[in-house]
Amino acid sequence: MQFIDLATQQKRIREKIESNIQTVLSHGQYILGSEIKQLEERLAEYVGIEHAVACSSGTDALLLALMAYDVGPGDAVLTSPFTFIATAEVISLLGATPVFADIDPETFNIDPEHLERALVALRDGLGDYPVPIGCTESSLVTKGIIAVDLFGLPVDYDAINAIAKKNGLFVIEDAAQSFGSQYKGKRACSLADIACTSFFPAKPLGGYGDGGMCFVDDEALAQAMRSFSLHGQGTHRYDNVRIGINGRMDTLQAAILHAKFDIFPDEVEKRQRVAEKYTELLSALDIDLVTPVVPPEYQSVWAQYSILSRDETQRSELQSRLKEAGIPTAVYYPKPLHLQPAFQGLGYREGDFPVSEDYSRRVFSLPMHPYLKPEEQEWISTIIGEEKGYS
Ligand SMILES: *Cc1c(COP(=O)(O)O)cnc(C)c1O
Repeated sequence: MQFIDLATQQKRIREKIESNIQTVLSHGQYILGSEIKQLEERLAEYVGIEHAVACSSGTDALLLALMAYDVGPGDAVLTSPFTFIATAEVISLLGATPVFADIDPETFNIDPEHLERALVALRDGLGDYPVPIGCTESSLVTKGIIAVDLFGLPVDYDAINAIAKKNGLFVIEDAAQSFGSQYKGKRACSLADIACTSFFPAKPLGGYGDGGMCFVDDEALAQAMRSFSLHGQGTHRYDNVRIGINGRMDTLQAAILHAKFDIFPDEVEKRQRVAEKYTELLSALDIDLVTPVVPPEYQSVWAQYSILSRDETQRSELQSRLKEAGIPTAVYYPKPLHLQPAFQGLGYREGDFPVSEDYSRRVFSLPMHPYLKPEEQEWISTIIGEEKGYS
């Protein structure tokens, strides 16, 4: 069994992928070919946003968004400690300071209450919420928030956007895992000031390599992100108005993504059915496991189907039993970012974000893709249900 079965998907669209690639080979515009603009337009329309800027990865999409907001040394950007490293890495890469706020125990997403407490601690230096070392004495300017739609479920944007507005902050939606999901009738990638997604092969809309996209309504921000992605290009290629990066998407990647996007809405429905089946099967088991919570008016795209075990021992017991049965599982994420060696300089400690720390010991993900068969899910559930030695 595959954790993510990309081969079955490829069989469905192989001919289209090959003909799209053939088209690029024939016209030869490997950089900034017409497929790029067409993909931007298709995806912007799908999410319901004015502008889309294709780029080289989800990480670069986040980097471009921060660059557009002129984030740099002396700035603080708040985010979740329970996410992929890229979310916070880009903040540090620009010389700014990542500030973490713990997650909501139900959704795994940044908790608006914790966010407010972190903001107060940064502003007043009251010390009742963990902030990076030296943060309160320095003249750090809090610039914005990167909210992460973890495992495909959007953050509570009404709450986050209200906090941001009150404090004059930008909100970037890290939608690397949530392209295709919904929040209160709006699609992910349209829920904050700028949204960034990823087309890494394992993401809900994955390509055959790296790729990403930024979405924004504001035209000036769109232009800035595009310019930053093209070496700070101004009105023409040899007019460089800012220091940027080589952050373009390849035309070939866009050609592949067109074929993948053709069947994407259907795949989103299939993912939903797979997730519902999992929840139905696992809820019927007489075992201590927490299945994912999707609040009313939210729709996940199920980048991962992640469950919580009782403790670390139960998790490793379940994982090894599943492995013996040929069922792959994964742990996202085994170490919260505030405890990563790379962020040691921030001075955070064990105990600072108890929910993230607890979940990093208990969470694990089951195989998840649109083509998972009900029989396979029943098999997975049977293996999980065989748990012995616990009451
Ligand atoms: C995958 C991912 C990224 C980075 O995307 P890449 O395309 O791999 O650079 C950023 N944030 C989150 C939450 C992700 O899951």
